[in-house]
Amino acid sequence: MCSVQEEDLENVPSQLQGKQSKEEFGGRRTCMKCASSLAVVVVRLNDPLCKSCFLAYFTHKFRATIGKARVIRAGERILLAYSGRLSSSAMLHLVCEGLSGAAHKKLRFEPGITFIDEGEVLKQSEEERSSYIEQIRGIVSRAEFPFHLVKLEDIFSRSAQDDASCCKKSETSEKGEKLKSLFDAMPSVTEKEDLLKILRNQLLLTVARKEGYSKVMVADCASRLSVRLLSNVSQGRGGDLPFDTGFSDDRHDDVIFVRPMREFVTKEIALYNFFNNVRAVVIPTLSTMSHSHVSIDRLTEEFVSGLQADLPFTVSTIFRTGDKLSVKESPDDVASCALCGIPLNVDPTLLSTLTDGLSAVELNVDNKTTPKSVTESCGSCESGCSNSLAEQPLTRDNIHEALCYGCRLTFKNVKFNPSDFPSFVIDAAKKSHHRAQMKEQIKDFLLHD
Ligand SMILES: [Zn+2]
Ligand SMILES: [Zn+2]
Repeated sequence: MCSVQEEDLENVPSQLQGKQSKEEFGGRRTCMKCASSLAVVVVRLNDPLCKSCFLAYFTHKFRATIGKARVIRAGERILLAYSGRLSSSAMLHLVCEGLSGAAHKKLRFEPGITFIDEGEVLKQSEEERSSYIEQIRGIVSRAEFPFHLVKLEDIFSRSAQDDASCCKKSETSEKGEKLKSLFDAMPSVTEKEDLLKILRNQLLLTVARKEGYSKVMVADCASRLSVRLLSNVSQGRGGDLPFDTGFSDDRHDDVIFVRPMREFVTKEIALYNFFNNVRAVVIPTLSTMSHSHVSIDRLTEEFVSGLQADLPFTVSTIFRTGDKLSVKESPDDVASCALCGIPLNVDPTLLSTLTDGLSAVELNVDNKTTPKSVTESCGSCESGCSNSLAEQPLTRDNIHEALCYGCRLTFKNVKFNPSDFPSFVIDAAKKSHHRAQMKEQIKDFLLHD
């Protein structure tokens, strides 16, 4: 299975080894587990392990993370979100190994793989995009699981009607244009990264629903989650933390996102891939080749990895602190954010005072899209009818009101038309607008407790 020879182990890149090991490697430390082999890596703070004990420790930790949560049932269809990067490559390898006959205790779910091509947003050329997809196909074809390739612009064809209506023109380029203009409108990399994360998750959700998967496995590791924890707080998303960093994210009732790689730090993952010859595809991100101040995410990453280099407990301290947070119990009928889907637990009046002034951006909204007042009748009935509301175009404010605090902040300085959004946002905003209208109409008949 593994072609790494003992002598190769001496060549483990020094940055992959802990500070301690670099100093004491010359002293020939032995493995703390089996006490018979030479240690080649140092995990956690100061635990020297040989190669086979390290791989056993890694696999066990992965299985234990899944097992402990008790959310995955035997025979369940699980969609692996594969990005080509280190962590998801390791996750794919772990799942393949776990399903193979050689596994000590076989994993018992049925996986599929999906890859989201984000080339449009990352401004890659057609050649670059196809070359990355080729590499990804090469890797996933070995796994022999069903593979679903989607493009990020497919987010604009979520509903069946939408699919039919844009068949007129070259559908792909039209969707690509829409996606491009939405991202171009975002004022900085921070907002772009935030939007990309949300759209990516929504697309994973769409693929899972369409192909019949009940769970999505994402490869967020502890290092990534610690960064997200801090950057979420600074971006007004503190309330979503348990959803964004916990083992399972059940904000969407029908499809649950799980994070089986969440106990590993990047160093451990890089070592696992090195020992197993796991290939990864290096795809640039929005902030690749940029300075560390380009976005909140990037700056936080720099801050956390800088601390981690000198204080190896940094990631686990942040990470464990985040684990203590829990989601506020929300009533069943609570509305969700039209964009990211988290429950809107905050009182709407409080939310609007918090975000007052956020929509003060000068808009150049096209006159054609300026809607009639929502209290007007539809014109075909004698009196004002509520059915007409469904046909009313949404205003920018309607969209704004259907967003959580974090998403409102993301769109704070963006000049957008409601029609710029994918249909799932528009549908959810319409629904939430309807609810608000209805509540207003019946408020005098409601009993208060
Ligand atoms: Zn050992
Ligand atoms: Zn939101």
